[in-house]
Amino acid sequence: MRIGRRIVRPSAVAAVLPPGWTRTELPAFRKMAIAPVLPQWAYTAAAWDEERQCHVAWALHTDKRRHWDPATHSTTDLPERVRSRLARDDNPLLRQLAKCALEYRCFTAQNTFYERDEGAIPASSGCNARCVGCISEQPEEGPPASHQRIRRAPDWEEMAAIGIAHLARAPGRTMVSFGQGCEGEPLTRAREIGEAIRRMRQATRRGSINVNTNGSLPGSLALLIDAGLDACRISLNSAHKPLYEAYYQPIQYCWEEVEESIRLARRRGVYTALNLLTFPGVTDQEGEADKLCELVSRARVHQVQSRSLAIDPDQYFALAARHSAGGARIGIAGVIARLKRARRGLVIGNFARGLNERGPRVA
Ligand code: SF4
Repeated sequence: MRIGRRIVRPSAVAAVLPPGWTRTELPAFRKMAIAPVLPQWAYTAAAWDEERQCHVAWALHTDKRRHWDPATHSTTDLPERVRSRLARDDNPLLRQLAKCALEYRCFTAQNTFYERDEGAIPASSGCNARCVGCISEQPEEGPPASHQRIRRAPDWEEMAAIGIAHLARAPGRTMVSFGQGCEGEPLTRAREIGEAIRRMRQATRRGSINVNTNGSLPGSLALLIDAGLDACRISLNSAHKPLYEAYYQPIQYCWEEVEESIRLARRRGVYTALNLLTFPGVTDQEGEADKLCELVSRARVHQVQSRSLAIDPDQYFALAARHSAGGARIGIAGVIARLKRARRGLVIGNFARGLNERGPRVA
């Protein structure tokens, strides 16, 4: 392969899947002693299929809706859209979103400039967790993070202005979401975000206001719901306390508070989704699947968004070997089937559901 001016002969191969797919198998490789810790990508088994004369990867098509199709993002007119928006609006948060849209190619940030569907509002420069595979901040000895964490937290005026502009105008699955890949934990800024949400709801009743969070601070989540939040997505790699805490390395919170946030959101009538960071060989162990099914049924969540955890496979296996709930593999497809049996009407998909997609709520 030519990479820039260099010709490289790769000795190991993997695929990275587009949005809407969930990985089912890991790539086969053996690491040499000098090998670095790999950066955060969801390495997926890939190969050449002699019979079909094409490349193949191991994955499930878990969300068939087209609005996150790469073909409709990073289009040639995007840089001009960004430039003209920045020319007419000096909101500092827009400059961050411009970097996210053009440099990181974040589709949610791009939607802010396309003025459609789900737009992004990054809010927090700090986090109360130290996830081993954090995509916005890695320790010195870790691999390079795939995003640079935002350095300056926006104030509520900046966030409200972005939100009002998007909710008032964007067609489609109109939504704004706090808690993006380039930031820390939004619940650590509940007061500012709460004020921004209140101002948005004073300006328009259109669309949905969502937060993507680690669910660490139920009291702060309640403040956002009081302000008008109507949807939340809580991230987890496991519903088994030892493995959750070994991966998230929480600071002054624990698994029980995450579960309390999920229950609180349900009790308050908020559309509640789990952001399940899946990893073949761990998430699909019998014991892990049991814990997930118990949680989904007990907390009565509406949706499980299945994501492929982006981390060096050996790094995660080393963690899981000591902390996972264990048991035989049932396959990622097996986990999804069991989740659907554990909770009637549970939605499995990769993407947030817009207001008009949330259907009749199952009690
Ligand atoms: S919760 Fe998010 S921002 Fe915080 S450490 Fe984990 S991945 Fe990083």
